[in-house]
Amino acid sequence: MRAHEAGALHGDLGNRGPAWLRTPEDVNALLPQLWPRTVTRDEDGELTVGNLRIGVLTKMFGTPLFVLDEDDLRSRCRDFRAAFADEDVYYAGKAFLCKAVVRIIAEEGLHLDVCSGGELAVALAADMPAERIGFHGNNKSVAELTRALDAGVGRIIVDSFDEIDRLTELARERGVRPRVLIRVTVGVEAHTHEFIATSHEDQKFGFSLAGGAAAAAAFRILDDNVLELRGLHSHIGSQIFDTSGFEVSARRVLALQAQIRDARGVELPELDLGGGFGIAYTTQDDPSTPHELSKRIHKIVEGECEGLRLAKPHLSFEPGRAIIGPAVFTVYEVGTVKDVDGLRTYVSVDGGMSDNIRTALYGASYSATLANRASDAEPILARVVGKHCESGDVVVKDEFLPADVQPGDLLAVPGTGAYCRSMASNYNHVPRPPVVAVRGDEARVIVRRETEDDLLALDVG
Ligand SMILES: *Cc1c(COP(=O)(O)O)cnc(C)c1O
Repeated sequence: MRAHEAGALHGDLGNRGPAWLRTPEDVNALLPQLWPRTVTRDEDGELTVGNLRIGVLTKMFGTPLFVLDEDDLRSRCRDFRAAFADEDVYYAGKAFLCKAVVRIIAEEGLHLDVCSGGELAVALAADMPAERIGFHGNNKSVAELTRALDAGVGRIIVDSFDEIDRLTELARERGVRPRVLIRVTVGVEAHTHEFIATSHEDQKFGFSLAGGAAAAAAFRILDDNVLELRGLHSHIGSQIFDTSGFEVSARRVLALQAQIRDARGVELPELDLGGGFGIAYTTQDDPSTPHELSKRIHKIVEGECEGLRLAKPHLSFEPGRAIIGPAVFTVYEVGTVKDVDGLRTYVSVDGGMSDNIRTALYGASYSATLANRASDAEPILARVVGKHCESGDVVVKDEFLPADVQPGDLLAVPGTGAYCRSMASNYNHVPRPPVVAVRGDEARVIVRRETEDDLLALDVG
């Protein structure tokens, strides 16, 4: 669904205004919605996280470096837990998954969504209780489904008739009764401030509501009575700031719930409305709090249930980006600074599209700040680019940086917790950066840096 993120493209500058409106103070400022909660500038102007200076971290771990503010991550988990106290919050592991993060979200009372055998393996390796795992995917293999059943995952979100047949057969063979939800495509595509509602949806995920496939899937599962149908599931997009898309999706999916009741006399006990809650990547973004989201979505669901005379189902949600995204930032070292014909300054850093593909892939917007010092130099309009052999290798399209930015400086890019390390590649045989978790005075490597030996280890030729 994240292909829709292309909508995050704000045009070249959004309405950030011309450079001469920017003061050095603006450029040194850390906007709270962009940064993890413990990040500040110390008296010398250097960025700190927990009780540690950025320069200390880069000396220990090198650059590029993903820094996870563990207290920030835990506080976001708690905010969701508190806002959705009577519901289940499934952290969407595809945003970023490693054993340490599994343990943190488990300790904070969250559930976990995985969407491949590999993600399931990480979850199980970190002792995530299997009954708190949901398993997604439009093409789960027999091996993956078998592993999920053997582990006893709490629910499987079925996505096709082939999968229903496959899972039914596996469940029969084993004499088990797996709990399933049906992924329904409701014809709502939501991102940022708009959503599109159509009657049909042309995409690979789920069972079509309008075409009748979703109802047929429910009837097949209920009539076979091998799988335990717990409810319906709908996920409408990502980086969503407005709940009006949820209003349409909830209305449609609950209408299906009523149709199933009328046809089979069964009220499904659960409803999952997916994830996709937006976060701030630039000063332009102003996301809602989990509490505000919860209030609005509950009102919508309660209104719809009342109209359809349905009991309110037990709800669950699947935020990924909103939990891990703002908790992480990337630190790069500047290698070259190039003024191109007086048009723009290109600041090259030691990573790029291999550690953050979102700018190249979706036209996503990011921001950046000088991390090793504050500067009172005049702001200039800069483009932060990577070191890859590709002119589309852009990390931050437009950002005001101090005019004295120079090789050896450190740049920090906030909001890189989701879909950056998890989508990282080895393009140009650039080893993938480590992830370091910081809490108080302590920094620990939770994913180590890839080495040239790691790269060569796969090359058996
Ligand atoms: C990707 C995905 C999510 C998480 O999306 P975010 O934008 O990271 O919140 C949740 N549910 C499903 C089914 C997804 O595919």
